[in-house]
Amino acid sequence: MAHPFSQLAPSLDDIAQQGLYRSRRIIESPQGINLEIDGKNIVNFCSNDYLGLANHPDVLNAFKTGADRYGVGSGSAHLICGHSAAHHALEEELAAFTGRDRALLFSTGYMANIGVISALLGRGDAVFEDRLNHASLLDGGLLSGARFKRYAHADAADLSANLEKAPGNKLVVTDGVFSMDGDFAPLNELATAAKKQGAWLMVDDAHGLGVIGEYGGGIVEHYGLSQDDVPVLMGTLGKGFGTFGAFVAGSEVLIETLIQKARTYVYTTALPAAVAEATRASLKIVIAESWRRDKLKKLSERFRLGAEQLGLQVMASSSAIQPILIGDSQRAVDISNALLDAGFLVSAIRPPTVPQGSARLRVTFSALHEEQHVDRLLDALAKIIAGCK
Ligand SMILES: *Cc1c(COP(=O)(O)O)cnc(C)c1O
Repeated sequence: MAHPFSQLAPSLDDIAQQGLYRSRRIIESPQGINLEIDGKNIVNFCSNDYLGLANHPDVLNAFKTGADRYGVGSGSAHLICGHSAAHHALEEELAAFTGRDRALLFSTGYMANIGVISALLGRGDAVFEDRLNHASLLDGGLLSGARFKRYAHADAADLSANLEKAPGNKLVVTDGVFSMDGDFAPLNELATAAKKQGAWLMVDDAHGLGVIGEYGGGIVEHYGLSQDDVPVLMGTLGKGFGTFGAFVAGSEVLIETLIQKARTYVYTTALPAAVAEATRASLKIVIAESWRRDKLKKLSERFRLGAEQLGLQVMASSSAIQPILIGDSQRAVDISNALLDAGFLVSAIRPPTVPQGSARLRVTFSALHEEQHVDRLLDALAKIIAGCK
């Protein structure tokens, strides 16, 4: 008999061979556009802290005041004794912000997605997912036990054809802004298709909330979609909001159902109340400071235009996520390493996070970047790509 787990070491070698090995970089500074790595200062182009709030003084202060009032640990799950006044106030503010009846906090976006889908669906039901959906949405669908169907990326016609044949409760699930491509889901069409077949539409707007829409209301604000159009709206707080955690917003019945049945809500410790206080401060900035969204848009467009002029393969993105398609995984890693040597942190995204043969550099912008940062990144890219040919 072979030794148990004897395949682990060879499998690691295999991953390395394919240029797919993953490792961490140790950051020695707060989050921001400048990071310290190995004692060296680099310019950060891979964070999801799009609005530059992760280290904002107001957010930091609210966190400290929150810790003074509530301590660090929340002591238990929300349903035992962990649901503080800070959590409750944040939920009410998020409901108002998204124009939904209620909102419910989860400890992470990953847990929210798994919890929601498996609370709403079971055997005999059906879930429909865009094939480029985030891993947590796919995992939630698989875990639910419902019939699982992927439809072609952003393709409402393909979705409709699949919806017609399905039994039971039907849930259509999509990213709002696709995390590795930066494009928007065609939500109007998806909402129409879902309604026509009596399905609910769930949108994960991790990369749109705070960032897209005049008031930062995300992809549903952009398309003007109500709770009736998008009955399940999920957002994360660790990206545009710069803090940590996630929430689901929707009807009274949806939220009460989740409180009873979402296992990742019921069986986990509430996130620290101080984090909720920090998020309340960050929500105020998100709403008030639209200059952050405007600037982000300008910077992203400047980069996109410059990259096109360099002959780089940009993708169909109008968000702060501007990927450069490379194809080969090892080449993407080599370019990312060369950029780091030149003082820029840009992550190489490889399969299985993206489809085979579509490795890319995922360049993201922050409202704290300036035009000169964009131009310097473009210069470095031009030199590296020329050197690689
Ligand atoms: C980041 C992300 C999540 C997970 O959120 P966490 O709070 O980091 O667990 C879920 N969905 C999408 C689309 C994401 O980009």
